[in-house]
Amino acid sequence: MKVLVAGGAGYIGSHCVRQLQAAGHSPVVVDNLVFGHRAAVAPDVPFYDADLGDKAAMEALLKREEIDMVMHFAAFAYVGESVTEPRKYYENNFVATLRLLEAMLDAGVKKFVFSSTCATFGVPTSLPITEDLPQAPINPYGQTKLDVENLLKSFCHAYGMSFAAFRYFNAAGAAEDGTIGEDHNPETHLIPLVIDAATGRRENIKIFGTDYPTPDGTCLRDYIHVDDLARAHIAAFPLLEKAGAGHFYNLGTGTPNSVREIITAVEQVTGKRVPTVEAERRAGDPPSLYADSSKAIRELGWKIKYTDVTAIIETAWRWHRDHPKGFGS
Ligand code: UDP
Repeated sequence: MKVLVAGGAGYIGSHCVRQLQAAGHSPVVVDNLVFGHRAAVAPDVPFYDADLGDKAAMEALLKREEIDMVMHFAAFAYVGESVTEPRKYYENNFVATLRLLEAMLDAGVKKFVFSSTCATFGVPTSLPITEDLPQAPINPYGQTKLDVENLLKSFCHAYGMSFAAFRYFNAAGAAEDGTIGEDHNPETHLIPLVIDAATGRRENIKIFGTDYPTPDGTCLRDYIHVDDLARAHIAAFPLLEKAGAGHFYNLGTGTPNSVREIITAVEQVTGKRVPTVEAERRAGDPPSLYADSSKAIRELGWKIKYTDVTAIIETAWRWHRDHPKGFGS
């Protein structure tokens, strides 16, 4: 398959490009490098610095490269910022995706893989989170992702598109060979921040809330390795052969880990002490989020390689240890 990877220079997109190559597909990357890193994409992968919202440019690119399918990872993903600047999130995450889908239809490309999020569920009504739970996002970021999910259903019904949408839990880790990994600016995710506190790049890690109704009082999350996410996407390709069909999958390991457990695991992996500060709860954090991924396992034959969070942190540690400045861009 010739696959256009939108946001292929970002964290999850760049790992997916690698996995596509490993599976014998031909990725082409489009990324405007607002958050992506040119160095995250190998020089042998065709690269276009363009905006998804530029319909004419995208349509021309889809035709010129004779693309079979589009995978879309390009989105803004700072929850707090989405609350204060929703305009930016609707424009980038929703409107630009609509333009991309229009370009696809006009170029005759009808297969789409979408990166959605467990944030579409908001505060879940039960745990673990299955695909059929009610979706009620509690911030504009989650809402824009849910809006695209609904857009896809309509396009699938009306125009015969086929799609798979994946709701990620907490993407974590780095490529096994340590050459690409997570590099966000600003970084807000727990694992890279705890690693920074272990190495002294930051003074400490703030634990956001210690009075949650969880076993140790800190939030539970489901950390899933970025390469496991990527492999699930590729496993869905055969489903896209059927026109007019859409599929949703929750992707996590199903094992929740608390903030304190992550800190202990980082100390164990790095051999360094992590200074901690107990802080107030962060607004909008549900106490507990973890996936029931049995649908992906059953229907896609998805195999989770990194079932243990320590193994995930080992890959993250290798990347951050050897690339203290990330991609340096
Ligand atoms: N967290 C924390 N300190 C930090 C960053 C995150 O205690 O400096 C907690 C956060 O409250 C949440 C968990 O770590 O319970 C995972 O947060 P992250 O931002 O990595 O992902 P999210 O679950 O928000 O998508």
